Amino acid sequence: MKTIIIGAGMTGLSAAKVLVEKGHDVTILDKGRGVGGRMSTRTIDNAKADHGAQYFSVKSAEFQALISDLQTEHITKEWHLVQRQNVRYIGAKGMNTIPKKMASDLTIHLNEKVISIGNNEVKTESGQSYLFDNLIITIPIPQVIDLFEASQISFSEKDKSVINSIEYDPCMAVMAVLKQATEIPSGGIILENQPVAWIADNFQKGITEIPTATIHASAAFSKKHLEDNLQEVAQEMLSSVSQWINPENVVSTQVHRWRYSLASKRYEKEFYQIENQNIYLGGDGFGIGNVEGAFLSGYHLGVSI
Ligand SMILES: Cc1cc2nc3c(=O)[nH]c(=O)nc-3n(C[C@H](O)[C@H](O)[C@H](O)COP(=O)(O)OP(=O)(O)OC[C@H]3O[C@@H](n4cnc5c(N)ncnc54)[C@H](O)[C@@H]3O)c2cc1C
Repeated sequence: MKTIIIGAGMTGLSAAKVLVEKGHDVTILDKGRGVGGRMSTRTIDNAKADHGAQYFSVKSAEFQALISDLQTEHITKEWHLVQRQNVRYIGAKGMNTIPKKMASDLTIHLNEKVISIGNNEVKTESGQSYLFDNLIITIPIPQVIDLFEASQISFSEKDKSVINSIEYDPCMAVMAVLKQATEIPSGGIILENQPVAWIADNFQKGITEIPTATIHASAAFSKKHLEDNLQEVAQEMLSSVSQWINPENVVSTQVHRWRYSLASKRYEKEFYQIENQNIYLGGDGFGIGNVEGAFLSGYHLGVSI
């Protein structure tokens, strides 16, 4: 069975691993330059900053099996946040080392943006075509809608109600290179009712030798300022956290606009098959969401197909 997976994030990688073990012929296509999607770590000169997902929890036995292996290989490590009771996990050398490890024995074509889906084949921006028996799509649902519109794929009423039940929050992210590490307790702080919802000290996390901080705006602030000038947004976010990051400690900043960060409304099942078609939708918009939800969505897709 030839399976094409669109997206080399946690969902696509998790689905691919199960399908390959079952003997399927699997190819992953991703528009990015690297794997991992929203589990990303940015390098700024010689400094590093986790840029999307910051940490994750492990509740299910299926995800625990993967994380136990990654712990043994020192790819992941525990993170004990003072504001959270249960242990959290991070990539020991950056969040993107987890998808990189998962991707190591899979067939993945990067810089391949899928622009349309035809009769058992997808076409990419580079002019390539890939044939499939089954197609798994793991990109955020608003991007799936655009792709289906470009492909003139029609939805049934049930398809529409599933797709319309999924929503994402945006997130404005600032990565700041610092002169010295912050004194944020345990290296991460959750803030409430403020422009900024989260600050991580990546030096304290142990992923960078040159100190950096990752600052994520709240969903409300991100929605309000999504189309604003990025430098001005970064300035406002930094000013609001001067208690934690002294402006004189900041060497340089980069800003990123995540249009889709966390799935705020999700479809309750772990994946969905488009009616009467060999096309499956998965991702963090399905099931429990976040990194673990993405893993479980891919895992159950792989088991079911
Ligand atoms: C700012 C931010 C903070 C977060 N914080 C946390 C956190 O602390 N804890 C947590 O558990 N989760 C967090 N998350 C959410 C977590 O990162 C996601 O739930 C998870 O990584 C989703 O994985 P995925 O594979 O479903 O999607 P993605 O990681 O988005 O993967 C989809 C992939 O599809 C590719 N793609 C898109 N369109 C196309 C196309 N047309 N053709 C080819 N490829 C395409 C993309 O390049 C991407 O690699 C955060 C996310 C963000 C953005």
